[in-house]
Amino acid sequence: MDRLLFRNYTVFVCMLALCTGTLLYVLIAGDRAIARIDSQVTHTYDVINNAQAVSALIEGMLAAQRGYLITRDEEFMDKYRRRRDRVSEVIVNLSELTKDNTSQATRLDELRHHFNAFSVKLEQRAQTFTITRSAKIIMDDMEEIDGLKETILRVNSAILRDEYKLLDVHIRKIEVQKSNYFITLLIGICTTALALLIFNIFLFNAQKKRSHIEASLKDTEERFALAVEGTQDGIFDWNVPSGEVFYSKQFFGMLGDNRGAFIGTPSDAQSLIHPEDSARITDYLEKYLSKEISDYSQEFRMKHKDGHWIWVQSRAKGIFDGQGRITRMVGAHTDISHLKESQTRLEAEKKAAEEANQAKRDFLAHMSHEIRTPLTAISGIAEILGTKQENLDDKQKKLIRTLHSSTTVLKDLINDILDFSKIESGELDLEEECFEVDLLFEEVISMMAVRANQKGISFVFDYTDVKHLTFEGDKIRIRQIIVNLVSNAIKFTDEGSVAIKAYRQERDGADCLHIDFADTGIGIDPVNFDMIFERFKQADSSVSRKYGGTGLGLPISKNLAQMMGGDIIIQSEIGKGSTFTLYLPLKGASQAKEEKAGTKPARKKSKNVISLRDDKKILIVEDYEGNVVVFSHVLDELGYEYDIARTGKEALDMWEDNTYALILMDIQMPEMDGLAATAELRKREKKKKRERTPILGMTAHALVGDRDKCFEVGMDDYMPKPIVETDFKRQVLKYAGARKAAA
Ligand code: ADP
Repeated sequence: MDRLLFRNYTVFVCMLALCTGTLLYVLIAGDRAIARIDSQVTHTYDVINNAQAVSALIEGMLAAQRGYLITRDEEFMDKYRRRRDRVSEVIVNLSELTKDNTSQATRLDELRHHFNAFSVKLEQRAQTFTITRSAKIIMDDMEEIDGLKETILRVNSAILRDEYKLLDVHIRKIEVQKSNYFITLLIGICTTALALLIFNIFLFNAQKKRSHIEASLKDTEERFALAVEGTQDGIFDWNVPSGEVFYSKQFFGMLGDNRGAFIGTPSDAQSLIHPEDSARITDYLEKYLSKEISDYSQEFRMKHKDGHWIWVQSRAKGIFDGQGRITRMVGAHTDISHLKESQTRLEAEKKAAEEANQAKRDFLAHMSHEIRTPLTAISGIAEILGTKQENLDDKQKKLIRTLHSSTTVLKDLINDILDFSKIESGELDLEEECFEVDLLFEEVISMMAVRANQKGISFVFDYTDVKHLTFEGDKIRIRQIIVNLVSNAIKFTDEGSVAIKAYRQERDGADCLHIDFADTGIGIDPVNFDMIFERFKQADSSVSRKYGGTGLGLPISKNLAQMMGGDIIIQSEIGKGSTFTLYLPLKGASQAKEEKAGTKPARKKSKNVISLRDDKKILIVEDYEGNVVVFSHVLDELGYEYDIARTGKEALDMWEDNTYALILMDIQMPEMDGLAATAELRKREKKKKRERTPILGMTAHALVGDRDKCFEVGMDDYMPKPIVETDFKRQVLKYAGARKAAA
């Protein structure tokens, strides 16, 4: 603002100087012109006076001579001569005055000439005049003299006339010059006055603005002072070059020091910083001052007057000069002790919650282990009893059937709960493997067709559209979804059909595998569409009473489908049936072309192709007697010989003395667990350069991470408990090979 004012002021002063200069110049020039004309007028007056003197002197000469002629008094003659000389002088003067005026000079020459003649004539008359002379001569002389006089006076009049004219011109010129002079003066005075007026207005406005700015500055300062006074924050303003720091009242007030606002030094505050924070703060400040850090914000402890420490958040802004040197630093300190306290409390609570969560997970894992272990035995025994019913009566057979179905329900429930807790905690990992979808569908058909058949409903699974389609994903989990949707369709349909159709279709621009599960069952009220996908929710309580179930199948399936990038959608009408559609995006899908019409292409060898091996024994490592019974029974059925070890240590000892086709290794055991035993065994194998023995881990720890741990220590595969007999047999056959006797 000041610079602008200064610039305007300079421009204005220059303008004023220019105006005044011009005015002065015009005045001086005008004055000079008038003076010049004035001297011309004086000159003309001189000429006129001299010319008028000539006329008078001529008359005087004549009168003096007449006096002499009459009186003969020499005094008249002297007068005459003086007047004659005077005329000559005047004529010389006039010649001098009119030398620049050619016409007047010519007239003067003429005048001089006539005057000379006149003088000569008068001289002659004076010498020759006598009273006695004839009157005629006297008259002739008189006439001649009068003639000459008249000529002189005429020439003189002509000179005077010209000079009067010239005088007239000069006077007019003077008048014009004078009026110009006054006009210029008037304009000049007006312009200057106007300029002064404008300048005054400008100064007035500038002054007004300045006062306004000063007033608002004062307001701002007052507001700032009020804010500094009123805020709970402590303000500091550090003049870095001088080393002076302004501290607001609250700055030390928050530390219990009520000395009020004052100007001090940085050390006033630094001396109160906690020794543990001091080095960090100094380091940080140095980095900020050298512009390594762009924002200044720090948290540290400062000592309260009472001796305790309070947490302070310091935020500041530096002002740097052109060379990047700090000149000033202004900032605020906020007491954040209460924030820190709640932060610490929250962290403790979070830790406690995490610990509780971990405890919940551990409890879940432990409980599942505890439940699964006896359940494996119960379900195994139920299966065994189911195959050995010859000596049992109907009641006993029914009891065994109930035992079998109850253990199956319990197994499913535990598996569902575990799955769900895995999904909820984000611990469920999906596999990525390539498989042909029709193989999967065939598995499902063989599992489900019997159930549909038992209920007397038609069961159709049409997958011609996707025959030999290769899918990349988690086969087990996809099978789980499909089995769940098919078993629901069969469960809730008492008559009619369950029709499943698989096809490829684009959805949201992505190539997807779609499977429609349509049934003619009880249907679902659309108001319950969302609810049935919530955990433990069933469409209505009468349904759960009649059909059983836990309400976990659909939420698990939907979650799994969504984890795979797909979803499950539903269409249904009460009493008319339901259609659930599962869609999953296809990754790197390819559909093999039929080699020959009507014939299937050759498939890859699947995992369960069995190879024959030498007759080696199998080692069961298991501390729980119930499981030992079940495993022994299955191995007996398969025709294997086996040894039993109760701890990991025992297993190692037995392995030292024998060569086993397969080791079935439990994980949780006293003395030495399965993981440690496996790791040790692998080490010894390497050391002794012994052939690698396949080890199959069997754990009730079905949570994520168990599987990885098993593979990490060197196991070949892993089976979660409760062990499904068919899976168990398949794994044993895979690793130990089929017994020739049982093949
Ligand atoms: P569950 O079958 O164990 O009860 P789900 O989560 O699989 O649990 O199903 C939840 C509920 O959705 C079922 O109890 C039933 O009310 C309804 N439901 C699922 N599928 C069907 C179907 N195909 N027809 C009719 N109702 C169904």
